[in-house]
Amino acid sequence: MSKVPVLSCPQPARTQGTNHIINALTIDVEDYFQVSAFAQSIERAQWDSLECRVERNVHRMLDLLAQKDTRATFFTLGWIAERYPALVRRIVADGHELASHGYGHQRASDLSQAEFTEDVSKAKAILEDIGGVQIRGYRAPSFSIGQGNLWALDVLQATGHEYSSSIYPVKHDHYGSPDAPRFAHPIREVLMEIPPTTLRLMERNLPSGGGGYFRLLPYGISRWLLQQVNQRDAQPAIFYCHPWEIDAEQPRVAGIGWKSRFRHYVNLDKTEQRLARLLDDFRWDRMDRIFLDRPPVAANARAHTPSLHGVPVA
Ligand SMILES: [Zn+2]
Repeated sequence: MSKVPVLSCPQPARTQGTNHIINALTIDVEDYFQVSAFAQSIERAQWDSLECRVERNVHRMLDLLAQKDTRATFFTLGWIAERYPALVRRIVADGHELASHGYGHQRASDLSQAEFTEDVSKAKAILEDIGGVQIRGYRAPSFSIGQGNLWALDVLQATGHEYSSSIYPVKHDHYGSPDAPRFAHPIREVLMEIPPTTLRLMERNLPSGGGGYFRLLPYGISRWLLQQVNQRDAQPAIFYCHPWEIDAEQPRVAGIGWKSRFRHYVNLDKTEQRLARLLDDFRWDRMDRIFLDRPPVAANARAHTPSLHGVPVA
């Protein structure tokens, strides 16, 4: 079968069997003190003086993935890669996709076009230099690309990225574009947007792709949400998590509001075990293999039909 170029509509990868859709597992490589919700309490200049735990946490995740013979995409900060080059090399050596989370974990919506261009270019150069592979994917910190800064997509394309996973079609107080398409779609000439997974329920898009929701909700509900996307929408899920989410012993950050505190620390001690179950219960692979490299096997018109408020129009 001939290879289909990116701009032909992407098709989910499929094989025979009941659990036939291969989902995308993604990990945003950043440390606990770099999350956007803590930006008011922790100065960027302090980062180098804080206890770094990202290295051991990513190694733990890599060990788990090796044990489950599963590959994933690691959206990695340039700031982390500079300090832990051996970690970046292990990500690549273990067969995972190395992708970019930008350099300094600044929201795209807080940067000028020139600053954003510098941030993503710097991260891509550092990751490619250390990893020795081409960086094709980018995820904006806190899913911070939306209606107000769609120019960021032009920058990503111009700087050689092939896909973004930065527009979360949900309503959230810190991010989200609830009317954006729910599934992978071409968004510029040679750039695809691959949004984290949502489930359409009661005329709303429910965040179903991981993060704090995966820690907050009982595992059975998270599994059901992903199963619905696989079975009802016949689409691969895009799941995301962070190395600090498996680290219950991380230092507690002082001076943050109750909401951020709850979101960050809830059920940290349960995440690794839940992740292991998730790896057993679904099939997983890297973003690039699912959405860029695999030729389509079966037609699925719903994935590509124009959508109305995120609901594919049949
Ligand atoms: Zn992040």
